[in-house]
Parts: sequence; structure tokens; C-alpha cells
Amino acid sequence: MKLTQPQIDFLVKFRERLGTKEFLIATFNVLYTRPVVDIPSIEEARSTSGCTVGKYAEATEITKPAIGTDAAPHPPVPAIPGDIIFLQSGEDRCYGYLDDVAVDEDLTYVVRFLASELTESPLSIEDTFTIKTGMINSYNRSDELTSVGRFVLNQVVLGSTLGEVISYVNEQWDQRKLEKTVAKLVLEDKVSIAQFETFMDHVYFLGHFTKLNAPSSTPRSLYTDPRIAKRKEELIEENRANLHDPLVIRRIEQELIAMDRKFLEGDEATTVYEAQGSKTIEVHRKKMFLSVGGIQAFSEDPSEFEFIENSLEEGWEVSDFHVRANETRKSIYGRGKETAKGGEQTKFILRIFQDLEVVADDCGTTRGLETFLKKEDIPGLLGRTIVIGAKSQPLDEKLANSLVNKVVKLRSPMYCEQHGGICYKCTRDTYEKIGTGSISMSAMEVTSTFLSLSMKSVHGTVIKSKTIDVLDYIVDM
Ligand SMILES: [Zn+2]
Repeated sequence: MKLTQPQIDFLVKFRERLGTKEFLIATFNVLYTRPVVDIPSIEEARSTSGCTVGKYAEATEITKPAIGTDAAPHPPVPAIPGDIIFLQSGEDRCYGYLDDVAVDEDLTYVVRFLASELTESPLSIEDTFTIKTGMINSYNRSDELTSVGRFVLNQVVLGSTLGEVISYVNEQWDQRKLEKTVAKLVLEDKVSIAQFETFMDHVYFLGHFTKLNAPSSTPRSLYTDPRIAKRKEELIEENRANLHDPLVIRRIEQELIAMDRKFLEGDEATTVYEAQGSKTIEVHRKKMFLSVGGIQAFSEDPSEFEFIENSLEEGWEVSDFHVRANETRKSIYGRGKETAKGGEQTKFILRIFQDLEVVADDCGTTRGLETFLKKEDIPGLLGRTIVIGAKSQPLDEKLANSLVNKVVKLRSPMYCEQHGGICYKCTRDTYEKIGTGSISMSAMEVTSTFLSLSMKSVHGTVIKSKTIDVLDYIVDM
């Protein structure tokens, strides 16, 4: 639906409040216990868009609704501009909002009309409108169609924290892309550490409000293409002798998953599935509706697999019972026991590195790790320092490209001569730029990967295959 002018005015005027819990809940929810303001005529309010329809002085009273009739929090009486209320004239009701308080000595409240449809929330995340320059500080292009959801994201995550550094993102948000952009801006000193911290706070804050808009439960999301069951039978019949082969299992699963994806195409639920990555479809929906599929056997040999034909919806067969029991046992064992490996390693690494700190700018060494610079390694090496002759130079993109396929001398903590710690030049400029000297967190990245791998296996796994050309791994001498 397209926003009406009063709704656009409301959203733009009170955009600063989008970063508060009360406002988000009140704006994107149907609450029947909002304060009520009696006004002379709703007809008048509806016809004159955005006009003043009543003052507190004229309204008979702002009625406080009965407490306990709605579990959701709401402002008991409108107190701050932007609070959403019901405007009431006789039996007739519509949404209004408090526009201004105490504009003169009589404490006049100015209330305005917002929307008529009381069965819907005052605004919806999917509603669209035309955004113009000046509506939000990060937008200065010509008019574009945008959605309320994108406006909220841009305001709360970007506009209110980073100002105009990142221009209004008017497309589906890509978390990784955004993280990379912001990280780059921090390193370039265009975003301060304080701003970055607020940015992260706001990201996490909004994460708590997924419930306000989670269209995951659509009719289609509750079942799958009925033809899948028949195709599954055919595939199993064709491959009956090889159902322990992970490659065969993967092929069967992939075909069924592709059919399920096709079935979901265009459905609203896919927006939630896409946001959660492939796991929702390839693990959750596959097990629920297609087939529990391949399961790593409870065996010493990791390439041994078993296959459960039924989906969870089709129910359990006695003949599969031991496989399911083994899977449960194995994944719980993995979580309980194997996380210990990663956990122990993490503690070990932390103990080694916890006291290691960057304590100086440059230890002045001309030694370094001799490294053959390959083109594909450049992104990972930018920001390091190399030694040319007796001189240390920061490795930027230009310099790196001029040294491709040559041996360079890379400053490294291994060769650092700093007493009492290491120096910035022997690490990477990231630490200097973000103003930290503790490097133990970076070392922990390695071991925490093992830890989270075994933690994740309890939620179900996906069989993946990769084709390798052995020749790629043979180096020409
Ligand atoms: Zn050094």
C-alpha cells in the first residue's frame, strides 16, 4: 500500500523516535488500548489532510484506557509529540497523533489525523512512498520510490549514527556488504570509533524488532509442492543401491530442494528465508517437508552415510528409528564433547596472547618474513608493512600490484625487535587505526571457528560437495 500524505508527514517528522522501543511498537502494531481524544468531527479530520483537528482544550478529555486489556506496552496518555492515539467522534474512530504539546500557555495539545483503517497498524513496514531530498539526512538524490522498512533501517542504523557518510540505501540490505563498507570507512577515518559503536548498538537494537514484521507464516510456507513426494519415490527407486553414497544423496536432495524453491517462488515467506540464508530451505524445510535425507552415520568413518526417506511431516518409520536416535546422540555428543576441543584451544591461545600488546610505533627492524606475493593474496596483505632495501613502506594497493609474483620482505611479529611487546609496523595498520594494542582477539578467531562448527552441528547439517581439479594445486616450477 502507498502511504497517504498524513502518514508520510508523521513518519518524516518523528523519524528520530524510530530508534525507540515504544515508538516502533506503537507505530507498527494494532493496539486497541491507545489513549482516546474526543474531537468534533472525524469527517473534517479526514478531508483536510494533515490539518489540526482538535486541541486538548477543545477535546472533551484524553481518556486513559483500561490497564490490563492489552499485554503490549503503550503510553498511558499521550505525553510526547508523535504518540499515536485514537481520535473519536461519537461512534467513529480513526488513528491520530499528538503533534505538539504546550504550544501556548494553556498547554494546548495539537492532534492530527493519521489513518482510518483501524484493523491495520498505523504504518506497515511494507508500505511505500516517494522519498524526497530533506526527508532524511542521508538522502539527496532525485525522487525515488522507497518502503517504510528501508526508511526505518536507514534512519536508525545509518542516518542517526553515521550521518551522511553512507547515502540512503534504497535496495534490499546486504549485511556483509554494509559491514565491509563501514569497516572501510572506519579505517579511512571517515567514521569514528564512537560512531561505529553507536552504529553497532543500533543494529542490535533493531534486531529485537523482527517480530514487528516477520511474514514467515504464509499458507505456502506450511506445505510444499505435492508432486515432490512422487518425484522423491522415483529418485529413491532409481538409486536404491547407492543410498549410502553422500554424492547420490546430495543429488537427490538438491533436486527436491530445487522443486521446493520453485514452489515458494514469489511467496512472502521467502523474504524471511532469504534473510536467514540457505539453511532454512536446505536444512529446515528439507527435513520438515521433503526428506530427512542423508545423515552421517554413527561411525568412525566420516564418509559413511545413512538415508531417511520420510520427511518429519510424513512421520517416523520403525526401520529408521536407530538412525534418528544415532543422529540425536551424535549431535548432542558433538555439542557436549567436541566443543571442548575448540574451547580448550581458545583458552590455550588466549593464555598465550593475552599479555601480548602493541606498545610502540616502530621497532625499526629491517628484518621481515620473505613472502612470494601472489595477486590473490593482496586483499589479505593490505595495511601490512614491507621492507625495501633498508626502508619500511606501507603496502597499499598500488605498491602491492607492482610487486606481484615477486618475493617481498613482510614486516611480521615474528621478526619484531620491540622490547615489552610488539610494534604497529610489524602488525597491521588496522590496530593502529582502531586504536587498540591488544591482539589476542584476532588470534582467537582461529580457534573459535572450530568451536562454532561443533556447536552448529546440533541444528542439522547439509551435505556439500566440491569438485577439485588436482592440477590447480600443482605448482609449475
Ligand atoms: Zn616491530
